[in-house]
Amino acid sequence: MNGQKASQPVLRQLPSLDRLLKAADGQTVIELYGLQLVTRIAREHLSVLRTELAQQLSNSASQLSFEPQALLTESELWGRIQLQCAQAMQSSLKPVINLTGTVIHTNLGRAVLADEALAQIQAVMQSPCNLEFDLERGERGERDDHIEQLLCKLTGAQAATVVNNNAAAVVLSLAALSKGREVIISRGEQVEIGGAFRMPDVMKAAGAKMIEVGTTNRTHLSDYAQAVSPKTAVLMKVHTSNYQVVGFTQNVSEGELASLSRTHSLFLVSDLGSGSLIDLRPYGLPHEPTPQELLAAGCDVVTFSGDKLLGGPQAGLIVGSHQAIQKIRKHPLKRALRISKLPLAALEATLKLYLRPERLVHSLPTLRYLSRDLFSIRQTAQALHGPLQTCLGQYFEVQLASMHSQIGSGALPIDLLPSEGVTITPKATLKRGRGSALKDLASALRSLPVPVIGRIQDDQLYLDCRCLEGPERVLEQLTALSALITKGRS
Ligand SMILES: *Cc1c(COP(=O)(O)O)cnc(C)c1O
Repeated sequence: MNGQKASQPVLRQLPSLDRLLKAADGQTVIELYGLQLVTRIAREHLSVLRTELAQQLSNSASQLSFEPQALLTESELWGRIQLQCAQAMQSSLKPVINLTGTVIHTNLGRAVLADEALAQIQAVMQSPCNLEFDLERGERGERDDHIEQLLCKLTGAQAATVVNNNAAAVVLSLAALSKGREVIISRGEQVEIGGAFRMPDVMKAAGAKMIEVGTTNRTHLSDYAQAVSPKTAVLMKVHTSNYQVVGFTQNVSEGELASLSRTHSLFLVSDLGSGSLIDLRPYGLPHEPTPQELLAAGCDVVTFSGDKLLGGPQAGLIVGSHQAIQKIRKHPLKRALRISKLPLAALEATLKLYLRPERLVHSLPTLRYLSRDLFSIRQTAQALHGPLQTCLGQYFEVQLASMHSQIGSGALPIDLLPSEGVTITPKATLKRGRGSALKDLASALRSLPVPVIGRIQDDQLYLDCRCLEGPERVLEQLTALSALITKGRS
Protein backbone atom coordinates (compact mmCIF):
# COMPACT_ATOMS: atom_id res chain seq x y z
CA MET A 1 0.00 0.00 0.00
CA ASN A 2 1.70 3.00 -1.38
CA GLY A 3 -0.23 5.74 0.44
CA GLN A 4 0.19 4.11 3.82
CA LYS A 5 3.92 3.74 3.42
CA ALA A 6 4.40 7.28 2.16
CA SER A 7 2.41 8.72 5.04
CA GLN A 8 4.60 7.27 7.75
CA PRO A 9 7.48 9.74 7.88
CA VAL A 10 5.28 12.84 7.79
CA LEU A 11 2.81 11.68 10.40
CA ARG A 12 5.68 11.02 12.68
CA GLN A 13 6.43 14.72 12.56
CA LEU A 14 3.31 15.43 14.61
CA PRO A 15 4.35 15.47 18.24
CA SER A 16 2.68 13.23 20.76
CA LEU A 17 0.19 14.91 23.06
CA ASP A 18 2.58 14.43 25.95
CA ARG A 19 5.47 16.07 24.18
CA LEU A 20 3.30 18.87 22.92
CA LEU A 21 2.06 19.72 26.42
CA LYS A 22 5.58 19.79 27.81
CA ALA A 23 6.76 22.41 25.32
CA ALA A 24 7.47 25.87 26.73
CA ASP A 25 4.57 27.42 24.76
CA GLY A 26 2.33 24.72 26.17
CA GLN A 27 3.27 25.54 29.75
CA THR A 28 2.32 29.18 29.20
CA VAL A 29 -1.09 28.28 27.80
CA ILE A 30 -1.70 25.76 30.60
CA GLU A 31 -0.87 28.48 33.11
CA LEU A 32 -3.59 30.64 31.53
CA TYR A 33 -6.35 28.10 30.97
CA GLY A 34 -5.64 25.03 33.09
CA LEU A 35 -4.43 21.57 32.18
CA GLN A 36 -7.82 20.00 31.59
CA LEU A 37 -9.14 22.41 28.96
CA VAL A 38 -5.77 22.71 27.22
CA THR A 39 -5.34 18.93 27.04
CA ARG A 40 -8.77 18.45 25.50
CA ILE A 41 -8.27 21.14 22.88
CA ALA A 42 -4.69 20.07 22.08
CA ARG A 43 -5.89 16.50 21.60
CA GLU A 44 -8.61 17.65 19.22
CA HIS A 45 -6.11 19.69 17.21
CA LEU A 46 -3.69 16.79 16.91
CA SER A 47 -6.44 14.47 15.80
CA VAL A 48 -7.67 16.90 13.14
CA LEU A 49 -4.13 17.47 11.88
CA ARG A 50 -3.51 13.75 11.71
CA THR A 51 -6.63 13.18 9.62
CA GLU A 52 -5.85 16.10 7.33
CA LEU A 53 -2.33 14.88 6.77
CA ALA A 54 -3.42 11.34 6.00
CA GLN A 55 -5.90 12.71 3.50
CA GLN A 56 -3.38 14.95 1.77
CA LEU A 57 -0.94 12.08 1.58
CA SER A 58 -3.37 9.63 0.08
CA ASN A 59 -4.42 12.27 -2.47
CA SER A 60 -0.89 13.01 -3.52
CA ALA A 61 -0.02 9.32 -3.51
CA SER A 62 -2.81 8.52 -5.94
CA GLN A 63 -1.57 11.29 -8.20
CA LEU A 64 1.94 9.98 -7.84
CA SER A 65 3.19 13.47 -7.13
CA PHE A 66 3.75 13.16 -3.42
CA GLU A 67 5.60 15.90 -1.68
CA PRO A 68 5.79 16.10 2.09
CA GLN A 69 3.45 18.85 3.29
CA ALA A 70 4.91 21.65 5.29
CA LEU A 71 3.67 21.15 8.82
CA LEU A 72 2.68 23.89 11.18
CA THR A 73 5.43 24.86 13.51
CA GLU A 74 4.76 23.86 17.06
CA SER A 75 4.38 27.44 18.17
CA GLU A 76 1.83 28.10 15.40
CA LEU A 77 -0.09 25.10 16.64
CA TRP A 78 0.02 26.54 20.16
CA GLY A 79 -1.25 29.84 18.79
CA ARG A 80 -4.33 28.04 17.47
CA ILE A 81 -4.84 26.11 20.68
CA GLN A 82 -4.57 29.25 22.75
CA LEU A 83 -7.09 31.06 20.57
CA GLN A 84 -9.54 28.22 20.96
CA CYS A 85 -9.03 28.11 24.73
CA ALA A 86 -9.74 31.84 24.85
CA GLN A 87 -12.93 31.31 22.84
CA ALA A 88 -14.01 28.46 25.11
CA MET A 89 -13.60 30.68 28.17
CA GLN A 90 -15.47 33.61 26.65
CA SER A 91 -18.92 34.24 28.07
CA SER A 92 -21.76 33.34 25.78
CA LEU A 93 -23.93 35.96 27.47
CA LYS A 94 -22.23 39.31 26.97
CA PRO A 95 -22.82 43.02 26.56
CA VAL A 96 -23.88 44.24 23.11
CA ILE A 97 -24.45 47.71 21.70
CA ASN A 98 -28.10 48.23 20.81
CA LEU A 99 -28.35 50.39 17.69
CA THR A 100 -31.58 48.74 16.54
CA GLY A 101 -33.67 51.76 17.48
CA THR A 102 -35.86 49.60 19.71
CA VAL A 103 -35.21 50.87 23.22
CA ILE A 104 -36.77 48.04 25.24
CA HIS A 105 -35.66 45.12 23.07
CA THR A 106 -36.78 41.77 24.45
CA ASN A 107 -34.09 39.81 22.58
CA LEU A 108 -31.44 42.21 23.89
CA GLY A 109 -32.49 41.83 27.51
CA ARG A 110 -35.02 44.70 27.74
CA ALA A 111 -34.31 47.47 30.27
CA VAL A 112 -30.75 48.44 31.13
CA LEU A 113 -30.47 48.73 34.90
CA ALA A 114 -29.76 51.95 36.75
CA ASP A 115 -26.46 52.30 38.61
CA GLU A 116 -28.34 52.17 41.92
CA ALA A 117 -29.85 48.80 40.98
CA LEU A 118 -26.46 47.40 39.97
CA ALA A 119 -24.86 48.60 43.19
CA GLN A 120 -27.64 47.01 45.23
CA ILE A 121 -27.25 43.66 43.43
CA GLN A 122 -23.54 43.74 44.16
CA ALA A 123 -24.03 44.72 47.79
CA VAL A 124 -26.67 42.13 48.56
CA MET A 125 -25.35 39.18 46.55
CA GLN A 126 -21.85 39.18 48.01
CA SER A 127 -23.09 38.15 51.41
CA PRO A 128 -26.05 36.49 53.09
CA CYS A 129 -29.04 38.82 53.22
CA ASN A 130 -32.38 39.17 55.00
CA LEU A 131 -34.30 37.87 51.98
CA GLU A 132 -36.90 36.11 54.11
CA PHE A 133 -35.82 37.16 57.54
CA ASP A 134 -37.48 39.77 59.71
CA LEU A 135 -34.58 41.61 61.35
CA GLU A 136 -36.80 43.36 63.87
CA ARG A 137 -38.41 40.25 65.28
CA GLY A 138 -35.60 37.85 64.47
CA GLU A 139 -37.89 35.39 62.75
CA ARG A 140 -38.95 34.28 59.31
CA GLY A 141 -40.00 37.13 57.07
CA GLU A 142 -41.51 37.51 53.61
CA ARG A 143 -39.74 38.20 50.34
CA ASP A 144 -42.55 40.59 49.41
CA ASP A 145 -41.83 42.72 52.49
CA HIS A 146 -38.96 44.40 50.70
CA ILE A 147 -41.11 45.93 47.98
CA GLU A 148 -44.76 45.81 49.08
CA GLN A 149 -44.98 49.14 50.88
CA LEU A 150 -42.99 50.84 48.19
CA LEU A 151 -45.26 49.49 45.45
CA CYS A 152 -48.35 50.48 47.42
CA LYS A 153 -47.02 53.98 47.89
CA LEU A 154 -46.21 54.35 44.20
CA THR A 155 -49.43 52.87 42.80
CA GLY A 156 -52.00 53.56 45.50
CA ALA A 157 -52.65 49.82 45.88
CA GLN A 158 -53.72 48.25 49.18
CA ALA A 159 -51.35 45.31 48.70
CA ALA A 160 -48.72 44.06 46.30
CA THR A 161 -46.70 41.00 45.49
CA VAL A 162 -44.06 40.10 42.95
CA VAL A 163 -43.15 37.04 40.88
CA ASN A 164 -40.68 36.00 38.21
CA ASN A 165 -42.21 37.91 35.26
CA ASN A 166 -45.49 39.35 34.08
CA ALA A 167 -46.53 36.15 32.29
CA ALA A 168 -46.21 34.39 35.66
CA ALA A 169 -48.12 37.24 37.32
CA VAL A 170 -51.06 36.74 34.93
CA VAL A 171 -51.11 32.95 35.22
CA LEU A 172 -50.84 33.10 39.00
CA SER A 173 -53.55 35.76 39.35
CA LEU A 174 -55.98 33.81 37.18
CA ALA A 175 -55.16 30.50 38.87
CA ALA A 176 -55.74 32.04 42.28
CA LEU A 177 -58.91 33.95 41.42
CA SER A 178 -60.67 31.87 38.79
CA LYS A 179 -59.56 28.25 38.78
CA GLY A 180 -62.43 26.02 37.64
CA ARG A 181 -64.55 29.09 36.97
CA GLU A 182 -65.17 31.49 34.12
CA VAL A 183 -63.19 34.50 32.98
CA ILE A 184 -64.84 36.97 30.61
CA ILE A 185 -62.60 38.66 28.08
CA SER A 186 -63.18 40.71 24.93
CA ARG A 187 -62.35 39.18 21.54
CA GLY A 188 -60.47 42.39 20.81
CA GLU A 189 -58.01 41.61 23.61
CA GLN A 190 -56.99 38.08 22.71
CA VAL A 191 -53.34 39.00 22.61
CA GLU A 192 -50.34 36.95 21.74
CA ILE A 193 -47.10 38.32 23.16
CA GLY A 194 -43.88 36.97 21.65
CA GLY A 195 -42.67 33.67 23.05
CA ALA A 196 -45.94 31.73 23.07
CA PHE A 197 -47.80 33.82 25.62
CA ARG A 198 -51.34 33.64 24.21
CA MET A 199 -54.34 34.56 26.29
CA PRO A 200 -56.39 31.39 25.55
CA ASP A 201 -53.42 29.20 26.53
CA VAL A 202 -52.75 31.24 29.64
CA MET A 203 -56.36 30.75 30.74
CA LYS A 204 -56.07 27.03 30.12
CA ALA A 205 -52.83 26.85 32.09
CA ALA A 206 -54.53 28.66 34.97
CA GLY A 207 -57.42 26.19 34.88
CA ALA A 208 -59.96 28.88 34.04
CA LYS A 209 -62.66 28.73 31.39
CA MET A 210 -62.42 31.58 28.94
CA ILE A 211 -65.67 33.25 27.87
CA GLU A 212 -65.09 35.49 24.87
CA VAL A 213 -67.41 38.41 24.28
CA GLY A 214 -67.84 41.08 21.63
CA THR A 215 -66.09 41.14 18.27
CA THR A 216 -62.53 41.86 17.21
CA ASN A 217 -63.18 45.57 16.76
CA ARG A 218 -66.13 46.28 19.03
CA THR A 219 -67.11 45.13 22.48
CA HIS A 220 -69.79 46.76 24.64
CA LEU A 221 -70.49 46.77 28.35
CA SER A 222 -73.69 44.84 27.62
CA ASP A 223 -71.61 42.03 26.07
CA TYR A 224 -69.85 41.54 29.38
CA ALA A 225 -73.07 41.92 31.38
CA GLN A 226 -74.88 39.26 29.34
CA ALA A 227 -72.02 36.80 29.74
CA VAL A 228 -71.95 36.99 33.53
CA SER A 229 -73.17 33.73 35.06
CA PRO A 230 -72.98 32.12 38.52
CA LYS A 231 -69.75 30.50 37.34
CA THR A 232 -68.05 33.80 36.51
CA ALA A 233 -65.12 34.73 38.74
CA VAL A 234 -63.15 37.33 36.83
CA LEU A 235 -63.61 40.12 34.29
CA MET A 236 -60.32 40.32 32.43
CA LYS A 237 -58.83 43.28 30.61
CA VAL A 238 -55.64 42.90 28.61
CA HIS A 239 -53.70 45.86 27.38
CA THR A 240 -53.32 45.32 23.63
CA SER A 241 -49.71 46.21 23.94
CA ASN A 242 -48.25 45.02 20.66
CA TYR A 243 -51.04 46.01 18.29
CA GLN A 244 -53.84 48.52 18.01
CA VAL A 245 -57.32 48.08 16.67
CA VAL A 246 -58.11 51.26 14.77
CA GLY A 247 -61.09 52.51 12.81
CA PHE A 248 -64.64 51.54 13.83
CA THR A 249 -63.83 50.40 17.32
CA GLN A 250 -65.32 50.28 20.75
CA ASN A 251 -63.92 48.87 23.93
CA VAL A 252 -65.00 49.01 27.50
CA SER A 253 -62.78 50.77 29.98
CA GLU A 254 -61.78 49.41 33.36
CA GLY A 255 -63.89 52.14 34.97
CA GLU A 256 -67.04 50.95 33.19
CA LEU A 257 -66.33 47.33 34.07
CA ALA A 258 -65.68 48.11 37.72
CA SER A 259 -69.32 48.66 38.62
CA LEU A 260 -70.35 45.48 36.79
CA SER A 261 -67.74 43.48 38.66
CA ARG A 262 -68.78 45.00 41.97
CA THR A 263 -72.47 44.29 41.38
CA HIS A 264 -71.71 40.60 40.84
CA SER A 265 -68.83 40.32 43.33
CA LEU A 266 -66.32 39.48 40.61
CA PHE A 267 -62.64 40.32 40.43
CA LEU A 268 -61.63 42.84 37.79
CA VAL A 269 -58.14 41.90 36.61
CA SER A 270 -56.08 43.95 34.18
CA ASP A 271 -52.92 42.75 32.48
CA LEU A 272 -51.21 46.01 31.73
CA GLY A 273 -48.07 44.55 30.15
CA SER A 274 -45.61 47.39 30.07
CA GLY A 275 -47.10 49.68 32.63
CA SER A 276 -45.27 52.87 33.31
CA LEU A 277 -45.30 54.11 36.89
CA ILE A 278 -45.24 57.70 35.72
CA ASP A 279 -47.13 59.79 33.19
CA LEU A 280 -44.84 59.83 30.15
CA ARG A 281 -46.37 62.91 28.50
CA PRO A 282 -44.17 65.48 30.27
CA TYR A 283 -41.19 63.72 28.65
CA GLY A 284 -42.61 64.25 25.18
CA LEU A 285 -43.76 60.64 24.98
CA PRO A 286 -47.22 59.31 24.25
CA HIS A 287 -49.42 58.38 27.19
CA GLU A 288 -49.26 54.83 28.42
CA PRO A 289 -51.80 53.77 31.07
CA THR A 290 -50.36 53.50 34.58
CA PRO A 291 -51.23 50.94 37.26
CA GLN A 292 -52.34 53.77 39.54
CA GLU A 293 -54.91 54.92 36.96
CA LEU A 294 -56.31 51.41 36.59
CA LEU A 295 -56.49 50.85 40.34
CA ALA A 296 -58.25 54.19 40.76
CA ALA A 297 -60.69 53.11 38.04
CA GLY A 298 -61.61 50.14 40.20
CA CYS A 299 -59.42 47.20 39.19
CA ASP A 300 -58.91 44.57 41.87
CA VAL A 301 -55.65 43.37 40.33
CA VAL A 302 -53.20 44.98 37.91
CA THR A 303 -50.16 43.10 36.63
CA PHE A 304 -47.16 44.52 34.77
CA SER A 305 -43.53 43.80 33.91
CA GLY A 306 -40.49 44.98 35.83
CA ASP A 307 -38.22 45.20 32.80
CA LYS A 308 -40.33 47.12 30.32
CA LEU A 309 -41.15 50.81 30.83
CA LEU A 310 -40.51 50.49 34.56
CA GLY A 311 -36.83 50.17 33.67
CA GLY A 312 -35.93 47.49 36.21
CA PRO A 313 -35.07 43.78 36.24
CA GLN A 314 -37.24 40.95 34.96
CA ALA A 315 -40.16 40.68 37.36
CA GLY A 316 -43.94 40.42 37.40
CA LEU A 317 -45.58 42.98 39.64
CA ILE A 318 -49.05 42.38 41.00
CA VAL A 319 -50.82 45.23 42.75
CA GLY A 320 -54.40 45.43 43.96
CA SER A 321 -56.85 44.93 46.80
CA HIS A 322 -56.01 43.20 50.09
CA GLN A 323 -58.46 40.43 49.36
CA ALA A 324 -57.22 39.62 45.84
CA ILE A 325 -53.51 39.86 46.66
CA GLN A 326 -54.00 37.69 49.76
CA LYS A 327 -55.56 34.95 47.60
CA ILE A 328 -52.78 35.25 45.03
CA ARG A 329 -50.06 35.13 47.63
CA LYS A 330 -51.48 31.98 49.22
CA HIS A 331 -51.74 30.03 45.97
CA PRO A 332 -49.29 27.09 45.77
CA LEU A 333 -48.03 28.25 42.36
CA LYS A 334 -46.64 31.38 44.02
CA ARG A 335 -43.70 29.39 45.33
CA ALA A 336 -42.95 27.97 41.88
CA LEU A 337 -43.08 31.39 40.27
CA ARG A 338 -41.30 33.39 42.93
CA ILE A 339 -38.78 36.06 42.12
CA SER A 340 -35.16 35.34 42.96
CA LYS A 341 -33.15 37.53 45.31
CA LEU A 342 -31.03 38.94 42.50
CA PRO A 343 -33.81 40.73 40.58
CA LEU A 344 -35.55 41.51 43.87
CA ALA A 345 -32.56 43.56 44.99
CA ALA A 346 -32.53 45.40 41.67
CA LEU A 347 -36.28 45.93 41.76
CA GLU A 348 -36.25 47.53 45.19
CA ALA A 349 -33.48 49.90 44.16
CA THR A 350 -35.26 50.76 40.91
CA LEU A 351 -38.55 51.46 42.68
CA LYS A 352 -36.74 53.72 45.15
CA LEU A 353 -35.68 55.90 42.23
CA TYR A 354 -39.36 56.65 41.66
CA LEU A 355 -39.48 58.33 45.07
CA ARG A 356 -37.48 61.12 43.45
CA PRO A 357 -39.35 61.44 40.16
CA GLU A 358 -37.60 64.69 39.19
CA ARG A 359 -34.31 62.78 38.92
CA LEU A 360 -35.70 59.82 36.98
CA VAL A 361 -34.82 61.23 33.60
CA HIS A 362 -31.16 61.04 34.63
CA SER A 363 -31.13 58.00 36.88
CA LEU A 364 -33.24 55.57 34.87
CA PRO A 365 -31.53 54.55 31.61
CA THR A 366 -34.80 53.51 29.91
CA LEU A 367 -36.37 56.91 30.48
CA ARG A 368 -33.12 58.65 29.63
CA TYR A 369 -32.95 56.90 26.25
CA LEU A 370 -36.64 57.44 25.52
CA SER A 371 -36.56 61.14 26.30
CA ARG A 372 -33.12 61.89 24.88
CA ASP A 373 -33.14 65.04 22.78
CA LEU A 374 -32.48 64.89 19.06
CA PHE A 375 -29.51 67.22 19.25
CA SER A 376 -27.63 64.90 21.58
CA ILE A 377 -28.48 61.83 19.48
CA ARG A 378 -27.28 63.66 16.36
CA GLN A 379 -23.98 64.53 18.05
CA THR A 380 -23.31 60.85 18.64
CA ALA A 381 -24.28 60.03 15.06
CA GLN A 382 -21.94 62.73 13.76
CA ALA A 383 -19.08 61.38 15.84
CA LEU A 384 -19.60 57.94 14.26
CA HIS A 385 -20.11 59.14 10.72
CA GLY A 386 -16.57 60.14 9.67
CA PRO A 387 -14.71 57.21 11.22
CA LEU A 388 -17.27 54.73 9.84
CA GLN A 389 -16.91 56.30 6.39
CA THR A 390 -13.16 55.88 6.61
CA CYS A 391 -13.50 52.29 7.78
CA LEU A 392 -16.15 51.18 5.28
CA GLY A 393 -15.93 53.75 2.48
CA GLN A 394 -14.35 51.39 -0.02
CA TYR A 395 -17.48 49.28 -0.24
CA PHE A 396 -20.24 51.27 1.41
CA GLU A 397 -21.88 54.68 1.46
CA VAL A 398 -22.19 55.93 5.05
CA GLN A 399 -24.67 58.73 5.63
CA LEU A 400 -26.06 60.72 8.53
CA ALA A 401 -29.79 60.19 8.59
CA SER A 402 -32.97 60.93 10.48
CA MET A 403 -34.88 57.81 11.42
CA HIS A 404 -37.45 56.54 13.89
CA SER A 405 -36.90 54.58 17.09
CA GLN A 406 -39.59 52.70 18.90
CA ILE A 407 -40.17 52.00 22.55
CA GLY A 408 -40.41 48.25 22.08
CA SER A 409 -41.62 45.33 24.17
CA GLY A 410 -45.14 46.03 23.17
CA ALA A 411 -45.37 49.48 24.65
CA LEU A 412 -47.08 51.94 22.34
CA PRO A 413 -46.54 49.89 19.18
CA ILE A 414 -47.73 52.53 16.74
CA ASP A 415 -45.90 55.56 18.05
CA LEU A 416 -42.46 56.11 16.66
CA LEU A 417 -39.90 58.44 18.16
CA PRO A 418 -37.89 60.72 15.85
CA SER A 419 -34.23 59.78 16.09
CA GLU A 420 -30.86 60.16 14.42
CA GLY A 421 -28.16 57.79 13.27
CA VAL A 422 -26.24 56.62 10.24
CA THR A 423 -27.37 54.50 7.32
CA ILE A 424 -24.97 52.26 5.47
CA THR A 425 -25.64 51.38 1.84
CA PRO A 426 -23.54 49.03 -0.31
CA LYS A 427 -21.98 50.86 -3.27
CA ALA A 428 -23.58 50.21 -6.64
CA THR A 429 -20.15 49.28 -7.99
CA LEU A 430 -19.97 46.21 -5.74
CA LYS A 431 -19.64 43.14 -7.93
CA ARG A 432 -21.39 40.69 -5.68
CA GLY A 433 -24.95 41.05 -4.46
CA ARG A 434 -25.54 44.20 -2.46
CA GLY A 435 -27.94 42.33 -0.20
CA SER A 436 -25.28 39.85 0.77
CA ALA A 437 -22.70 42.63 1.27
CA LEU A 438 -25.09 44.22 3.76
CA LYS A 439 -25.69 40.94 5.55
CA ASP A 440 -21.95 40.32 5.75
CA LEU A 441 -21.43 43.76 7.25
CA ALA A 442 -24.19 43.20 9.81
CA SER A 443 -22.57 39.89 10.65
CA ALA A 444 -19.11 41.47 11.01
CA LEU A 445 -20.59 44.05 13.39
CA ARG A 446 -22.16 41.25 15.40
CA SER A 447 -18.84 39.42 15.71
CA LEU A 448 -16.97 42.36 17.24
CA PRO A 449 -15.74 41.94 20.83
CA VAL A 450 -18.73 44.05 21.94
CA PRO A 451 -21.21 43.15 19.21
CA VAL A 452 -22.96 46.07 17.51
CA ILE A 453 -26.56 45.32 16.54
CA GLY A 454 -28.26 47.47 13.92
CA ARG A 455 -31.32 46.85 11.78
CA ILE A 456 -31.60 46.17 8.06
CA GLN A 457 -34.42 47.99 6.35
CA ASP A 458 -34.96 48.95 2.70
CA ASP A 459 -31.57 47.53 1.65
CA GLN A 460 -29.75 49.71 4.16
CA LEU A 461 -28.20 49.04 7.52
CA TYR A 462 -29.56 51.49 10.09
CA LEU A 463 -27.52 52.34 13.14
CA ASP A 464 -29.85 54.30 15.40
CA CYS A 465 -27.85 56.23 17.99
CA ARG A 466 -30.65 56.82 20.53
CA CYS A 467 -29.30 54.24 22.99
CA LEU A 468 -25.64 55.07 22.39
CA GLU A 469 -24.76 57.83 24.81
CA GLY A 470 -21.19 58.29 23.59
CA PRO A 471 -19.54 57.08 20.38
CA GLU A 472 -16.48 55.55 22.11
CA ARG A 473 -17.74 52.01 22.52
CA VAL A 474 -18.23 51.77 18.76
CA LEU A 475 -15.21 53.83 17.68
CA GLU A 476 -12.74 51.78 19.67
CA GLN A 477 -13.79 48.69 17.71
CA LEU A 478 -13.31 50.08 14.20
CA THR A 479 -9.83 48.60 13.80
CA ALA A 480 -11.27 45.19 14.58
CA LEU A 481 -14.10 45.87 12.13
CA SER A 482 -11.64 46.81 9.36
CA ALA A 483 -9.78 43.56 9.93
CA LEU A 484 -12.99 41.52 9.77
CA ILE A 485 -14.08 43.18 6.55
CA THR A 486 -10.72 42.80 4.87
CA LYS A 487 -10.64 39.16 5.91
CA GLY A 488 -14.14 38.67 4.48
CA ARG A 489 -12.96 40.08 1.12
CA SER A 490 -9.87 37.96 0.74
C1 LIG B 1 -45.05 41.84 27.92
C2 LIG B 1 -46.42 41.42 28.27
C3 LIG B 1 -46.65 40.23 28.96
C4 LIG B 1 -45.53 39.33 29.36
O1 LIG B 1 -44.72 39.94 30.31
P1 LIG B 1 -43.27 39.30 30.66
O2 LIG B 1 -42.73 40.20 31.70
O3 LIG B 1 -42.51 39.26 29.40
O4 LIG B 1 -43.54 37.92 31.17
C5 LIG B 1 -47.95 39.91 29.25
N1 LIG B 1 -48.98 40.68 28.87
C6 LIG B 1 -48.80 41.85 28.20
C7 LIG B 1 -49.98 42.67 27.82
C8 LIG B 1 -47.51 42.26 27.88
O5 LIG B 1 -47.31 43.40 27.20
